Amino acid sequence: MAAILPPAMLGIIGGGQLGRMFTVAAKTMGYRVTVLEPDPAAPAADFADVHLCAPYGDAAALKTLAETCAAVTTEFENVDAGAMRELAKQTRVSPSGDCVAIAQDRIAEKAWIAKAGLPTAPYLALETAADLAAVSDDALAVCLPGILKTARLGYDGKGQIRVKTVADARTALSELGVACVLEKMLELKLEVSAIVTRTSASQMTVFPVAENRHVNGILDVSIVPARIAPALAAQVQAMARRLADELDYVGVLAVEFFVLADDTLVLNEIAPRPHNSGHYTLTACVTDQFQQQVRALCGLLPGSTELLTPVVMVNLLGDVWGEDGSEPRWSVLAEAPNAQLHLYGKQEARRGRKMGHFNVMADTAEAALEQAEALKDTL
Ligand code: ATP
Ligand code: MG
Repeated sequence: MAAILPPAMLGIIGGGQLGRMFTVAAKTMGYRVTVLEPDPAAPAADFADVHLCAPYGDAAALKTLAETCAAVTTEFENVDAGAMRELAKQTRVSPSGDCVAIAQDRIAEKAWIAKAGLPTAPYLALETAADLAAVSDDALAVCLPGILKTARLGYDGKGQIRVKTVADARTALSELGVACVLEKMLELKLEVSAIVTRTSASQMTVFPVAENRHVNGILDVSIVPARIAPALAAQVQAMARRLADELDYVGVLAVEFFVLADDTLVLNEIAPRPHNSGHYTLTACVTDQFQQQVRALCGLLPGSTELLTPVVMVNLLGDVWGEDGSEPRWSVLAEAPNAQLHLYGKQEARRGRKMGHFNVMADTAEAALEQAEALKDTL
């Protein structure tokens, strides 16, 4: 396929922080960008050449994307996969609507993970009310204590209920009233992720493995390199590659894993796009994950994923802002020469809302972590 070169117009569905960072990367490389996003004040709107301010499924806006963009991508999985398949009849689209459809449905996602021969937590797929009525107490008990997750539209731990007993599970299932998976709660030693960039079977790179710490189901800190044995990190990367191959994936694919006490790896979930746990690449790798998204979209070779320095990324949620909306003490970060602040331009700081992040680069991951924690505490 011919490479798409600057100053071609690229399109992205979704204008949040991931869309914003894609837009900055593409603009820096000389492309122009059209963003489809209903929020007039969306983070990506600051940088896009064209902002189609319309719902993601808006037929006229999708037509404009198809007619004016040399290629179209997405910043999130909850876009209409059908709309992406339609777009693909008229312009280059990556990732494919088929891959997005898999990533947006936990049931399909787990089936594909199994198809690639990779391990998931024990789970039960409960797609319909009939499935729920038919499921035996014994079958439920195998996945208890567990987490009930809606099959669709969950993010940052939303749409999840922790359940201990069969009775709990039945109550929660009827409360949710939508397709769900019940997943056995595993005892996690660590969580890690790997981000693959794939343009074809022979052109694939994978970023260094990130160790991820969550608070209240939301990513808090990523530590790179992950503090796991090199052989285990290699296994994580190999599994992520295998899944990308199985999906015949084109684009950037994030793969989240659990590490159990005995160093067994379990695949948690995938995201068909750059990922919060890959924001460290913005300051610590030769190529960052958004540049990779541009490259894969445009049919260029993936760039080098070499890690230039140990790094820790800290998420900045709205919680860090004052009750009255007052800004954190940014001078603390400004005065640290090895820290880089990145804000997404969101107007309102709400609890749990991802407002920005900062990266700290140091000689070791431990040193970066220690400094990053101290900086966050003094913001
Ligand atoms: P995001 O989109 O932010 O990654 P999500 O809402 O899609 O999150 P998951 O990744 O499924 O949700 O779960 C969020 C977090 O909850 C995980 O990172 C992990 O810390 C915890 N968790 C999820 N499933 C399990 C499990 N089976 N056992 C133990 N902990 C789990
Ligand atoms: Mg997750």
